Amino acid sequence: MSESNPITCNLDLDAPGKHAGTLDLVHSDNQHSMGVIPVPIAVINNGPGPTALVTAGNHGDEYEGQVIVRDLFHALPPGDITGRLILMPALNYPAMLDNHRVSPLDGGNMNRSFPGDPSGGPTAVIAHYLDSVLFPLVRRRHRPSFRRAPGPLRQLRLCLPGR
Ligand SMILES: [Zn+2]
Repeated sequence: MSESNPITCNLDLDAPGKHAGTLDLVHSDNQHSMGVIPVPIAVINNGPGPTALVTAGNHGDEYEGQVIVRDLFHALPPGDITGRLILMPALNYPAMLDNHRVSPLDGGNMNRSFPGDPSGGPTAVIAHYLDSVLFPLVRRRHRPSFRRAPGPLRQLRLCLPGR
């Protein structure tokens, strides 16, 4: 049995309609005295159906995908979808805040961090949350065949080619 992930999601992913919240990543150092880093997450829910997960900001200095996911959240009415769309516009949020490719907290490259580690640094913990909590939602409700794919292939990435 895998170790549970320390991240708390303060968003009800089953609530109907459109909602934004955070994954609360526990991390304490000199810059984060409150001990929690809020990683943005949003959901658009419209009844039974498949779940899709869209992420951007795998690398903190790649902004196009982050803007697209943010704009998608604001522009898409729940009635335009069937099922659920989970959006994470800045997957490596500490890297995005630092305007760098990798996290300033642990040097973590999100693209190389899957399947993650619930006892690792912040980047590994975020990757593990996706692998253990969010990816199964997509697998269960939409694509069982993803079970055999490596972790990084399970997410829809919006990175530019060649990066
Ligand atoms: Zn990238």
